[in-house]
Amino acid sequence: MRKLDHKQALVLFSGGQDSSIALVWALDRFETVETVGFDYGQRHVVELGARQAVKREICAAFPAWAAKLGSDHMISAHGLKDIGDTAMTAEQQITVGDDNLPTTFVPGRNLVFLTLAAGLAYRRGVGVLIGGMCETDFSGYPDCRETALSAQMDAIRLGMECDMRLETPLMNETKAASWRLAEEIGGEQAVALINEHSHSCYRGVRTTRHDWGYGCGDCPACALRAKGWAEYKSA
Ligand code: ZN
Repeated sequence: MRKLDHKQALVLFSGGQDSSIALVWALDRFETVETVGFDYGQRHVVELGARQAVKREICAAFPAWAAKLGSDHMISAHGLKDIGDTAMTAEQQITVGDDNLPTTFVPGRNLVFLTLAAGLAYRRGVGVLIGGMCETDFSGYPDCRETALSAQMDAIRLGMECDMRLETPLMNETKAASWRLAEEIGGEQAVALINEHSHSCYRGVRTTRHDWGYGCGDCPACALRAKGWAEYKSA
């Protein structure tokens, strides 16, 4: 059994709203925080630019966090594009499919990401994975649910023979509550920079700025983000 360092965290960081809030949460709690992102031919590749912007702005605004922020890793997961045929990786309409899941659902995607992140964390001796997965205000992806993640972490601990754990601080929070969490940790400054620089829109639109951030305004990710921001602001 390999003992890993539980004061070190690796955040699955896509540059979206949830993973940006998860990153701030991790920086508030752990001694060192590394980040990992995945390039899988997603059509909102603009998200990958958002990763750099969010990290840069966090470092500028919070020097104590900048000192804890370690390496950023980018892993290619282009095999997911070979499986293909989803609205996330191909030019397909974004809607709800026959299986009641959004056509942006990439089967197995989050399972692959978690496994790759776990392998990277193991190599680096990092004991805690952190993700922004959420099953409250979510897109319906079954691999974001706590039951699926907990089963997968059991498999990872067995298959890698180590004591790694996963923390998902937003799992049971609404989008409005996750904004409140960001505010508790980093104040209005953290909220403002995440709102400005994180990216959620499935269509990759960054030309239109709404009060809730950039996006096309009508894909499921924009709808969820707009609703959460409105609830946060009206509370
Ligand atoms: Zn959108």
